[in-house]
Amino acid sequence: MEKEKVILTGDRPTGKLHIGHYVGSLRRRVELQNSGEYRKIFVFEADAQALTDNIDNPEKVRQNVIEVALDYLAVGLDPQKSTIFIQSQIPELCELSFYYMDLVTVSRLQRNPTVKTEIQMRNFETSIPVGFFTYPISQAADITAFKATTVPVGEDQEPMLEQAREIVRRFNYIYGETLVEPEILLPDNAACLRLPGTDGKAKMSKSLGNCIYLSDSADEVEKKVRSMFTDPTHLRVSDPGKLEGNTVFTYLDAFCKPEHFGRYWTDYANLDEVKAHYTRGGLGDMKVKKFLAAILQEELTPIRERRKEFEKDIPAVYDMLKKGCEVARETAAQTLDEVRRAMKINYFDDAALIAEQAQRFHQ
Ligand code: ATP
Ligand code: MG
Repeated sequence: MEKEKVILTGDRPTGKLHIGHYVGSLRRRVELQNSGEYRKIFVFEADAQALTDNIDNPEKVRQNVIEVALDYLAVGLDPQKSTIFIQSQIPELCELSFYYMDLVTVSRLQRNPTVKTEIQMRNFETSIPVGFFTYPISQAADITAFKATTVPVGEDQEPMLEQAREIVRRFNYIYGETLVEPEILLPDNAACLRLPGTDGKAKMSKSLGNCIYLSDSADEVEKKVRSMFTDPTHLRVSDPGKLEGNTVFTYLDAFCKPEHFGRYWTDYANLDEVKAHYTRGGLGDMKVKKFLAAILQEELTPIRERRKEFEKDIPAVYDMLKKGCEVARETAAQTLDEVRRAMKINYFDDAALIAEQAQRFHQ
C-alpha cells in the first residue's frame, strides 16, 4: 500500500538553530524521517517569511540560509530522504497566498495570539508590515502546496495550523475537494512544547538572545549553563528550591534520560530523586547545572562535529539546496494547477470552456 502521510516543516533563517528548535521540532523530524513511514518529507527555510520582519536586513537572512542548512545536515536531516528547500525559490507559494488572502478576514488575523505576541516583541504595534501581519496565510500556502498531512512544530505554531485548516476547509467548501487538511504534531514531552530561554523567559528565541545554539562550542555551552536562570529564592544550598519556572529543571525534563545517571551522576537513580532533594533543600544549583552541562555536551558534541564536516564543502550544501528547490517546485506547481482549475482560472487548458463559449456567441 502506498504511504499516505506527507510531512512539511520549516524554520526562519533569522539565526542559527538552537536547542529549543531541536527539542520542539528538529529531533522529531529526524526520527520521523528515519521511520520510513512517510511518503514524502519537505523541510524548508522560510526566508521570504523572515524578510517580513527583516526587510531592511537582507544580508542577515542571506547569511543564515547557509547556517540553517548546516544545522539541518548536522542534526541528521538527510537530503536522500528529505527534500530540503528555500521558500523564496518557489514562486507558486506566492500565488497560492494571493488567492488564500480572500478566504481570511482581517479580524481573524488580528486574533492570532502568536502573531500578537510577536508584534509586541518587535515593537510593531503602530506600524505592522502587511506581509508580517499576513504571514499565517503564507504559511498555509507552504503547508498546502505540498499537501502536507503532518506538521511537526512547537506549540507557538498551533494558531498557524488552525488558520491553515480553516483555509483548507473554506477552499474545499467553495471550490470542491482540492486541498489537504494538515495536522499539527506537537512534542509529546511538555517541556519541549516551548523551551524557555536561558534567562528564564517564556521562549528560547533567536530574537531574544537567550539561546544555546546547536553550533555553540563546548566552552560556550558550559558558560551558558553556568549562568542559567534557576530559582531566585534558592540562595543557600540548604534552602528548599522551587522547580516551577526553574529553567535548569525544565531543560533536564527535555533532555535527561535514565542512562545519564549511570554516566554522570551516580548519587541519584533518576530525575525524581534529584527533584525531591532540590525541593527539600540541601542540593545546590551548581551540581544540577554540572549534570545538565554533561548531558547537553553528550547530545551536542556529535552534532557540532558533523557540522564541521559539512562546513568543509559549502558549494555542495548550496547544490543540495538547489536540487531540493527543483523537486519542491514540481510538487508546488502541481498543486497550483489543481487550485487554478478548481477556482476556474484555467482558461487556456479547458477545451470544453472554449467550445461552450464559442457556441454561446454563435447561437
Ligand atoms: P524567530 O524569533 O525568528 O521567530 P524562532 O526561534 O521563534 O525564531 P522559528 O524559525 O520561528 O524560530 O521556529 C522554528 C520551529 O521551531 C517552529 O516549529 C517552532 O515551533 C519551533 N520553536 C522555536 N522556538 C522554540 C522553543 N523555544 N521551544 C520549542 N520549539 C520552538
Ligand atoms: Mg518564531
